[in-house]
Amino acid sequence: MARYTGPVCRLCRTEQKKLLLKGGRCKSDKCPINKKHPAPGKDPKARPGKRSDYGIQLREKQKLRRIYGMQEKQFVLFFERALRMPGITGENLFILLERRLDNVVYRLRFAVSRSQARQLVLHGHVLVNGSRVNVPSYLVRPEDVIEIGESGKSLVIIKDALKEFGKSGIMPWLQMDPDVMKGTFLAAPRRSDIIDLTDIKEQMIVEYYSK
Ligand code: SF4
Repeated sequence: MARYTGPVCRLCRTEQKKLLLKGGRCKSDKCPINKKHPAPGKDPKARPGKRSDYGIQLREKQKLRRIYGMQEKQFVLFFERALRMPGITGENLFILLERRLDNVVYRLRFAVSRSQARQLVLHGHVLVNGSRVNVPSYLVRPEDVIEIGESGKSLVIIKDALKEFGKSGIMPWLQMDPDVMKGTFLAAPRRSDIIDLTDIKEQMIVEYYSK
């Protein structure tokens, strides 16, 4: 399936949830979700229909997949890997998603959105343990050092994104020195650590793929 290139706010409106796909705009009053726009293609006056169990599970899966900006095929591969790991599959899935390099770059505040982080990785601006890695799905390991290479240090988008570091800090499983644009992935987070995604019901995603 091709990567979605349409308006991303439409995806949030479909899920009726802020998926935070646009960086600064997501936290501003311009966010259509704040204005309670209806789902695309729906009559604003129409009453919401009752969803089947399958429909609820599907929407939960789509939400998580879209938050991390992944295509279905790759998301399934992550799910299958989570299934093979010891422990609870839904929690394993979250841990794997959080270990993606584009996600870590976003969480370290080098980018304002995961899609922008993905571009930084694809354009070769990100080093892992001193070596350039241009694969957004690369899985970061505990103690890996992630930094912006010389080619990216003067980029305004990174400098602007790092201002958010001063305002909100970073997640507890990461360490960061914004002055040298270098961070460390200390350890894989536990599910309970991922506090900005507590409303995602991963068990429903497991049930969706178990059919
Ligand atoms: Fe989603 Fe951000 Fe658009 Fe709001 S501004 S609808 S959170 S992508």
